[in-house]
Amino acid sequence: MCAIEAGLRNRRVLLLDKAKKAGSKIRISGGGKSNFTNLYVTPENFLSNNPHFCKSALSRYSQWDFMNLMSQAGLTWEERSHGQLFCEQGAQAIIDMLLGHCHEVGVKLLIQCDVLSITHADAFFLNTSKGKISCDSLVVATGGPSIPRMGSTDLGVQIARQFGLANIPFRPALVPFIFSSDFLKQWFQDLSGISLDVRVSCNEVSFREQMLITHRGLSGPVILQISSYWEKGDVIEIDVLPEIDAADWLLELRNTNTRSELKTVLSEKIPKRLAQRLCHNQLGSQPLNRYSNQDIMKIGSILNGWKIKPSGTEGMRTAEVSAGGVNTDGLSSKTMQSKQVPGLFFIGETVDVTGHLGGFNFQWAWSSGWCAGQYV
Ligand SMILES: Cc1cc2nc3c(=O)[nH]c(=O)nc-3n(C[C@H](O)[C@H](O)[C@H](O)COP(=O)(O)OP(=O)(O)OC[C@H]3O[C@@H](n4cnc5c(N)ncnc54)[C@H](O)[C@@H]3O)c2cc1C
Repeated sequence: MCAIEAGLRNRRVLLLDKAKKAGSKIRISGGGKSNFTNLYVTPENFLSNNPHFCKSALSRYSQWDFMNLMSQAGLTWEERSHGQLFCEQGAQAIIDMLLGHCHEVGVKLLIQCDVLSITHADAFFLNTSKGKISCDSLVVATGGPSIPRMGSTDLGVQIARQFGLANIPFRPALVPFIFSSDFLKQWFQDLSGISLDVRVSCNEVSFREQMLITHRGLSGPVILQISSYWEKGDVIEIDVLPEIDAADWLLELRNTNTRSELKTVLSEKIPKRLAQRLCHNQLGSQPLNRYSNQDIMKIGSILNGWKIKPSGTEGMRTAEVSAGGVNTDGLSSKTMQSKQVPGLFFIGETVDVTGHLGGFNFQWAWSSGWCAGQYV
C-alpha cells in the first residue's frame, strides 16, 4: 500500500521481501478468503500504549477507501458476523490487485531478498542477501514475529532500537489458551470440539462470541480476542449463559419444575457434556427443589462468571498477530516517520498498534501504509 502511494507520487520505489512470494500473510488469512477489513472500524478496536495514535491514519484511509479500491478492481466481498468482510474471489485476488497497482506505478519488486543489516549516514545503506542497496527514505514494514515458521521475525524493533527508538516488547496476541495437564484432565478431557456462545472477561474488557474447547485448552474467536488483554497469572471469567441471569432463571425453574436435576436443566442451555462436567466438578447436581436460595445464588454466579486460570498461551507459534512493537511516541501519527531520524518510517504490525480479530490488523496495515506513502 505504501509502495503504491509513493509510486503514484512518482517516487522511485524498490520493494524488498525475503519471502518467495509477496503477501504471504494475506494469502493464508481468513481461511484463504482474507478478512481484509471490517465495516465497523473504530480506534477502540486497537490496543496500543497510546490509544490515540491510530486515529489519524484510520480516518485518513478508512475501510471505505479499501473497499473502494477492491470495487474498482472488480473484487467483491461477503459480510460475516461483527462486520467482518471476506474477499469472494479469494485472498490471492487481493495480492494480485496490490501487485498490479505496484506494477502500474513503476514499483520494482525484489523477492527472496533478505535485509541483513542497515547503516545510515547521508542515506540509508542496506546490506541484503542480493547485494548492497542505498536509499533516501526507508520504510520498515516487516510485521511481527508471530508464526515464525513463515520466516516472521522482530526485525522491525531491532531496526528501531538501532536508531534509538523505544519499543514495547512483542507478545503473542489473538492466540489460544493452554492449561496444565491436571486441569485439562479434570475439565476438558473428552470435551474437545465443543463450541458455545459465551462472554469472556479479563482486565475489565469483555467479548461475546463462540468459544471452542480443544485438546490443549480453549480457542475460538472469543478466546483469541481476550488473549490480547491477558497477562500471565490473570484469571479469565467465562459467562456460559450470556443471555440470562442464571440465578433468576434457576430460582424461577425451582418454583415450577421442582424435580428436574440441575444438570438436566442446564443441558437445555449449554452442550450436555459441558453441563455434566460443570455439575460433576463444581456445581453438584440434585433436583432443583433441594437447593436453597443461597445455593442457587452461588451456582448462578459461577454460571455467569466461571473463573479459570490459563497456564499460558500457545505463544508466537500460532498467534495471529504480535502485540507491542515500535513505540508510537517516537513516530508521527500523520506520516509514520521517526521523529528522530528523518527518512525512516515504520508501518503495519511492526508498530505498537494491534487490532482485534475481524479484519482490523489488515486495515491498520493499509491505513498506516497509505499515510507513509504520502510522505516517503
Ligand atoms: C494465520 C494468520 C491469519 C491472519 N488473518 C488475518 C485476517 O483475516 N485479517 C486481518 O486483519 N489480519 C489477519 N492476520 C494478521 C495480518 O496478517 C497482519 O497483521 C498483517 O499481515 C501485517 O501486515 P504487515 O505488512 O505489517 O506485515 P506482514 O504481512 O507480516 O509482512 C511483513 C513482510 O516483511 C518481510 N520481511 C520480514 N523480515 C524481512 C527481512 N529481513 N528482509 C526482507 N523482508 C522481510 C516478510 O517476508 C513479509 O512479507 C493474520 C495473521 C496470520 C498469521
